[in-house]
Amino acid sequence: MGTVSIENVRKVYDGDPEVVAVDDVSFEIADGEFLTIVGPSGSGKSTLLRMIAGLEDISDGTIRIGDRVVNGVQPQDRDVAMVFQNYALYPHMSARKNMSYGLELTTDLPDEKIQQRVKEAAEMMGVTEQLDKRPGNLSGGQQQRIATGRAIVREPSVFLFDEPLSNLDAKLRLHMRTELQQLQDKLGTTTVYVTHDQEEAMTMSDRIAVVNGGQLQQIGTPEEIYDEPRNLFVGDFVGSPP
Ligand code: ADP
Ligand code: MG
Repeated sequence: MGTVSIENVRKVYDGDPEVVAVDDVSFEIADGEFLTIVGPSGSGKSTLLRMIAGLEDISDGTIRIGDRVVNGVQPQDRDVAMVFQNYALYPHMSARKNMSYGLELTTDLPDEKIQQRVKEAAEMMGVTEQLDKRPGNLSGGQQQRIATGRAIVREPSVFLFDEPLSNLDAKLRLHMRTELQQLQDKLGTTTVYVTHDQEEAMTMSDRIAVVNGGQLQQIGTPEEIYDEPRNLFVGDFVGSPP
């Protein structure tokens, strides 16, 4: 089950002064839901997502994926797959190898099965023709699709996206919004999507979690948040009429 439960989660980065990046945040994500975490730069979105992914230790609180507490569980054992803002593709590997490598490393699936998954994911993302190229010879949009394909082949219970469209031009960004939504409709995989773009959040999501200063401001459907913002920050951020 692809539910995610975040319970009183905090993240404090050591330093002088220390930074409270995520401040006692709690909410739940339903199985199959497309939930977007939206907020301005520095509001703790990436930190929260990286804690769900297991790429960042949590300072306090509990994260559950399905009915399992994943505090301390390694990223590859969490049944999640993440797509990064800069795609994080290996430059010296072909697109195909980029998509298969994680599975080869962390599972004992037979190569035939892995290649079958790569083929299907590449078809889904429209990059079959690009599989033998290296990332440096692909456009930004193609790299984005390969990075998403790499997440698909893992067949995770949860997709985690950190600003996946922010490096694309405006037109492609609009197009990819629709594509990612269609992908989620088709696969039904729980999706946690991070963006600073309120319009992206409003158009793509089942529900939105608005964060600011490391704190959850409001969570609800785009309509609820637009029609009944809980405070001035939320109303201003989503552009509700005063
Ligand atoms: P967002 O993704 O919303 O822009 P981040 O989660 O990246 O926000 O950052 C939240 C806060 O935590 C910011 O003040 C940022 O400077 C700080 N921060 C993020 N990563 C680190 C780190 N590795 N060390 C120290 N501070 C960090
Ligand atoms: Mg970020």
